[in-house]
Amino acid sequence: MSTDPIALAQGVLAGDRRSVARAITLIESTRADHREAAERLLHEILPRAGRSIRIGITGVPGAGKSTFIEAFGLHVVEQGHKLAVLAVDPSSPRSGGSILGDKTRMEDLSRDIRAFIRPSPSGCTLGGVARRTREAMLVCEAAGFDVVVVETVGVGQSETAVADMVDMFLLLLVPGGGDELQGIKKGIVELADAIIVNKADGDLAVAAKRAARDYTNALHLLTPASAAWTVPVLTCSALERGGIAEVWTAIGGYRQTMAAIGRFDERRAEQAHAWMWNEINETLLQTLKDDSSVATQLPALEREVTAGRMAPGAAARRLIKAFRHGN
Ligand code: GDP
Repeated sequence: MSTDPIALAQGVLAGDRRSVARAITLIESTRADHREAAERLLHEILPRAGRSIRIGITGVPGAGKSTFIEAFGLHVVEQGHKLAVLAVDPSSPRSGGSILGDKTRMEDLSRDIRAFIRPSPSGCTLGGVARRTREAMLVCEAAGFDVVVVETVGVGQSETAVADMVDMFLLLLVPGGGDELQGIKKGIVELADAIIVNKADGDLAVAAKRAARDYTNALHLLTPASAAWTVPVLTCSALERGGIAEVWTAIGGYRQTMAAIGRFDERRAEQAHAWMWNEINETLLQTLKDDSSVATQLPALEREVTAGRMAPGAAARRLIKAFRHGN
């Protein structure tokens, strides 16, 4: 792969899809020279990034996320937008069942020239996946994609990572199941800026309306993230592509409301700040682990700590001292 970051950046800025795909591949690479090239590329495209609405979507497997994203995506591109779909799924490898990894998902959308779909990067920690997805998002924005959807599964910690990188976080639920919030952790519900009850069709239509009412009531018990925004509970049928326009309208309403109180830019600024500190944490930890003085002392100190002969705090301080002073 040619990794000339300047040429690649030009391709991205011209909206060339192949350049976008290659730029993201470069970003996902763990090779040191690739990382350097990726940073150069990001520097080039950064002035043109940021002009999009970033939407996170979560929901348990089977809730209908990919069906929804396809219906939603087709609606959004019909409105004249360009849509990019990214994924954060640290649990599965890229091939074989990873979310968005299955080529048959979002078939119509993936064929649409106005959409760009990218599976989750594989083989790294949640922190690594989140970092790469954030950077991929910037690349998509610089290429002119003005709606970016980041999908994640509603079972782990990845929701928080996604909520921390988007402007608006959507929670997709399905009717029935008895339990008010279907095993979705309360913490995840609290992250939601809108709740969508999917599968509001056929026999499930009535149950979906009832579920939406129940969720609305349940939400009253939670503290809203913003006094200016009441989290709406909508119903839709991703399969029949009903209620999708209403979701897009709600997103527009959210954006307008947040922009009016200055919260839209403020949230992005907070996210950028937190992202910088994440980078510092990750890079510093890696640098520490790579340090030769630390590497020399680490095995013995770990043995002492696990054997209970040394306090963990003291061992940590010893290692950090070795890192700082090289002894
Ligand atoms: P994901 O795992 O959350 O991505 O869910 P999928 O989009 O793969 O959908 C899981 C199953 O639910 C599939 O069999 C879909 O056809 C079905 N499904 C998705 N959306 C709807 C809907 O709006 N109504 C109905 N009845 N089924 C749906």
